[in-house]
Amino acid sequence: MLYVRCWRAESGASVPMNDPLAHSFDRQRMRDSLVEWGAAEGRHFPWRETQHPYAVLLAEVLLHRTRASQVVPLYLSVLERYPDIPSLAAAPLDALHTILHAAGLRWRVDLLHAMAATIQERFGGTIPRDLDDLLSLPGVGHYIAGAVRCFAFAEPEAILDTNTVRVTGRLFRVHVNDSSRRSPRFKKVLQVLVDPERPREFNFALLDLAAAVCTPREPRCDVCPLLPFCQTGASRIGRPRDRRSRQTTRV
Ligand code: SF4
Repeated sequence: MLYVRCWRAESGASVPMNDPLAHSFDRQRMRDSLVEWGAAEGRHFPWRETQHPYAVLLAEVLLHRTRASQVVPLYLSVLERYPDIPSLAAAPLDALHTILHAAGLRWRVDLLHAMAATIQERFGGTIPRDLDDLLSLPGVGHYIAGAVRCFAFAEPEAILDTNTVRVTGRLFRVHVNDSSRRSPRFKKVLQVLVDPERPREFNFALLDLAAAVCTPREPRCDVCPLLPFCQTGASRIGRPRDRRSRQTTRV
């Protein structure tokens, strides 16, 4: 059983919390609620319609610190002209610059090129599934490696970023800060929550929920599918709006 010695509560006070997941919490029901919500309300992007590892990796590299709406035309252009690792590895840098320049992503050209060349040289053009192999690629950190393993290979990976740790922190009413997305504790908790049977659907829905419902400043708990499982939501519902607002900005 997962053991977390002591997390800081949203109020700022340290509270003993031996196991955030030990609360009366039907994990599978929570997963079902989230995945069902995602199927009805989730966003649609071209990279979600494929499990091809190259397409998934390309999308994740382009999405890093860039808005999804901005990435859609770039992703489609690169994919059309360079549909696989060998063609991307052989692409003239000028041509890649031309595609990515307008979006201010020039710095990602060298990265993409080096990544494709490394995959071609070390893995025969096949994108690796193994975590350490993925992490050995230029420009691939834990977020991109986890996303590729989940979205391309359906591995039950926890996807930690600012948004998913915000939702997780609120679920268990624990303090979140800038380093939480690198926290092994958050990783362990989120890893236990991920639906092992539907990791892609779970993580897509979690990302979408963070973007549309469990937003940074004004979470919409009244329409949230996770409300029955959420300690923060339970404390906010029924409270005056101004008091709710102050509370959520602390997370
Ligand atoms: S109930 Fe509210 S705080 Fe909890 S996950 Fe949903 S939107 Fe976020």
